Amino acid sequence: MARIVMKFGGTSVADLDRIRAAAAHIKRETDAGNQVAVVVSAMAGQTNQLVEWTRQASPIHDAREYDTVVSSGEQVTSGLLAIVLQSMGVDARSWQGWQIPIRTNNAHGAARIEDIDPTTLIERFEMGQVAVVSGFQGLGPDNRVATLGRGGSDTSAVAIAAAIEADRCDIYTDVDGVYTTDPRIEPKAARLARVTFEEMLEMASLGAKVLQVRSVELAMVHGVRLFVRSSFDDPHGAGAGSQSNMPGTLICDEDEIVEKQVVTGIAYTRDEAQISLRRLPDVPGVSASIFGPLAEANINVDMIVQGASDDLSKTDLTFTVPSGDVETALSVLADARDQIRYEDVQSDGGLVKVSVIGIGMRSHAGVAATAFRALAEKGINIRAITTSEIKFSVLIGADYTELAVRTLHSVYDLDNR
Ligand code: ASP
Ligand code: MG
Repeated sequence: MARIVMKFGGTSVADLDRIRAAAAHIKRETDAGNQVAVVVSAMAGQTNQLVEWTRQASPIHDAREYDTVVSSGEQVTSGLLAIVLQSMGVDARSWQGWQIPIRTNNAHGAARIEDIDPTTLIERFEMGQVAVVSGFQGLGPDNRVATLGRGGSDTSAVAIAAAIEADRCDIYTDVDGVYTTDPRIEPKAARLARVTFEEMLEMASLGAKVLQVRSVELAMVHGVRLFVRSSFDDPHGAGAGSQSNMPGTLICDEDEIVEKQVVTGIAYTRDEAQISLRRLPDVPGVSASIFGPLAEANINVDMIVQGASDDLSKTDLTFTVPSGDVETALSVLADARDQIRYEDVQSDGGLVKVSVIGIGMRSHAGVAATAFRALAEKGINIRAITTSEIKFSVLIGADYTELAVRTLHSVYDLDNR
């Protein structure tokens, strides 16, 4: 017997047929004698609709009321799934975030989970009951519903798994795992059998949309192993009941990975824009004068490249922001021009950041050099580069996205995995 969390995303509960299929996966686990907590998303598209209604009601609105509205999608699916489970003879009941309660901080719309009391859930397990918990929501210190940010039901699932000390946390979605890159761009992309928390964290922040970034962080901190698998698989198919013999990707600790690869995956993010400030005084405080005001305007600056000036008095500085923020960034920079004292500013949209990720980079030299050579051979110009311990990213023109992803996928031998 194991205690497991099973999380079903929006496409896995998109209608009653999908809810029945999810229920069949759950019944397989309870029939095997496991204690099960289920976490559900809203039906696919539902949260977008709810968000849109709050926006139409008033473009500027109270975040607490936004949470009241957008949390409702999960209330519907948790109840429906409990009804379907009951009709199949599974003793199930639904739980909203406030009933457990899942305590969050006060950041309505992007709340963080602070505490989950597992007592009631565990009592119910002992009685043989399945808990169907609404993801994405909790109870704020103001005693009002708080939501966890888009994609937050992944985080609910991991937090619950940590609180009830689950043996497994299975993430059911519409793909059968995490891939070496986006299969829509590179059909040779292969499913990864295992990937480390660190790599998954990079992939999730760099555009692989399988899991909410925060859920991976939380899983890493609490050592919750995640298994990403498809709810579209036959619920009674071979390999039911354990993680090791069904198709999917296990996200786990480094020491569980026997065959270590240098490069694990290629991710990309579209809609990047570059802003360059020309001929700034090269003096202490100049970066602060630029990035302080941008941060205050809530603009997320990503890559930063500063040129070394030859006469040690003037320098150039280039950085990237999301395309949607360029106008705001330019007006912030114009307002701060007297403090920053740049001579000229240029901006360029339509860029893409392509990233190469792999834990093996820690111990291998020359990994990035291989990419630079391969991209050069294809005539792809690199505009900026950033590196960290287990990844590096290049900024390129959007027209080259497909070519760059495929080139890198093949140069690191991911094609034939
Ligand atoms: N329904 C919420 C959303 O779409 C939470 C989730 O699905 O994870 O963001
Ligand atoms: Mg999701």
